[in-house]
Amino acid sequence: MDEILHQPRGAERKPVAAPAVFTQALALPSRLSAAAEERAERFMQGHIRLVRRVDAIRGMFRSFNPITFLAIATVVGVASVVTTSYTPSYRVSIDGQPIGIVASQQAFQSAVQRVEARATTILGYTYHLEGDVTYEFALTKRGGIPSASTLEPALFDRIGDVMKSYVLLVDGQVVGASDNRDDLEELLDTVQASYTTENTISSKFTDNVTITREYISSDVEQDLTAMQATLTSNINGETTYEVQAGDTFMALANNNGMTMSELEALNPGVDVNKLMIGQVLNMKEEIPFLSVETVDHVTYTESIAAPVREVEDSSMYKGDTKVLSAGSAGTQQITADVTYVNGNETARTITETTVLTQPTEKVVAVGTKEKPTWVATGSLQWPVYGNITSYFGYRSIFGSYSYHRGLDISCSYGTSIAAADGGTVTFAGWNGTYGQLVTIDHGNGMVTYYAHNSSLLVSVGDKVYKGQTIARAGSTGRSTGTHCHFEVHVGGSLVNPLNYLP
Ligand SMILES: [Zn+2]
Repeated sequence: MDEILHQPRGAERKPVAAPAVFTQALALPSRLSAAAEERAERFMQGHIRLVRRVDAIRGMFRSFNPITFLAIATVVGVASVVTTSYTPSYRVSIDGQPIGIVASQQAFQSAVQRVEARATTILGYTYHLEGDVTYEFALTKRGGIPSASTLEPALFDRIGDVMKSYVLLVDGQVVGASDNRDDLEELLDTVQASYTTENTISSKFTDNVTITREYISSDVEQDLTAMQATLTSNINGETTYEVQAGDTFMALANNNGMTMSELEALNPGVDVNKLMIGQVLNMKEEIPFLSVETVDHVTYTESIAAPVREVEDSSMYKGDTKVLSAGSAGTQQITADVTYVNGNETARTITETTVLTQPTEKVVAVGTKEKPTWVATGSLQWPVYGNITSYFGYRSIFGSYSYHRGLDISCSYGTSIAAADGGTVTFAGWNGTYGQLVTIDHGNGMVTYYAHNSSLLVSVGDKVYKGQTIARAGSTGRSTGTHCHFEVHVGGSLVNPLNYLP
């Protein structure tokens, strides 16, 4: 009994079922005779060897045959240790090939179903594992039965159409696979490199790019050149466009590489003949399959516009300006971080500005003097209101065909004749067939004549404002009846006054 109870120190297993006995046993050796101790020691050497042999076998198979086990149990005679340390299990083989140990047949069948379901998803058709499954009862060290899921790789290995590989995915979409993860990393680097310059300080994909190690159909793309072609190809995206003035449906279709019907298809319900400014249309947009965002650190020079200084000038009229000094633009060096997506700038952050040459100011004189009322407004008013008795151009008068230089406006004797616009009186007096005549130079290339007056109210050199009474109506000179003969000269030529009157 002593030997049995005397559990050797350093033994790998302890009789957990009898902790009280074990504790007691530890105290026993001190009371044993030297001979008994030696006997016990010899036995234990043998016991340890046996246990180690069992461990070696377990290391190979992770279980051992119950018959073998019972033989050991008989020798050792510690049934309590055996039943508490080992548990029933099954060694599974498919077509005679050992797969592993499972706790139950049900656990293995579940693993098979999971692998089949996964293979069905990967392959796109219902897949069933094939083979003759045999279960062999075995006892396995408690806690030593692996989860049935650890057998799944061995099951996947039996499926020729499925392989475990490094899979490249962009936004969840499989691009291809490779046995070598580095090949995929290099491929991604190549795509990124096409957008980088010597100024690029950072680069990243804006799409979700992942490399996973997973089971995938064996016919997945494995050619790196083909994968690169996919990554750099353009795909059709959609964008919107706001209709601008002058846009036509056909021009918009042409500009965006579409036919009219393609654009119509993108915009159901839109009247192609009635585009409205501000209307939003759907447009096709070509974007790379894989988008790359880069940030370039750049330095460049740009001009600085000359600052403008205004100088008030009381000799000039309000609203009038005159450049006194043109000034000159300066230059500055800009350092900026520019963000691009697929080579198109999306943001620019200026980090440093250094002025290289200062601009010199542009000086502009700005008038402050109130504009006098006699300055021509540029538009005429009627000198007098009345019936037009003779128009500008050819007419028959006094029995002969002649050219009429102005407009005859009939009115009563003594009616006020107004200046048609502001200006300077250049003639005021008798002038042959015109009779009492006033002429006004409006200072803008236009001169007006007012003839046949009974009296004049202005003199040469007078400044008159638009609407100022300059004479009284009469019938002096070559005239029949009281009227105002009104002429308009532009650039020295007679023009039809009706083209200038409101
Ligand atoms: Zn006339």
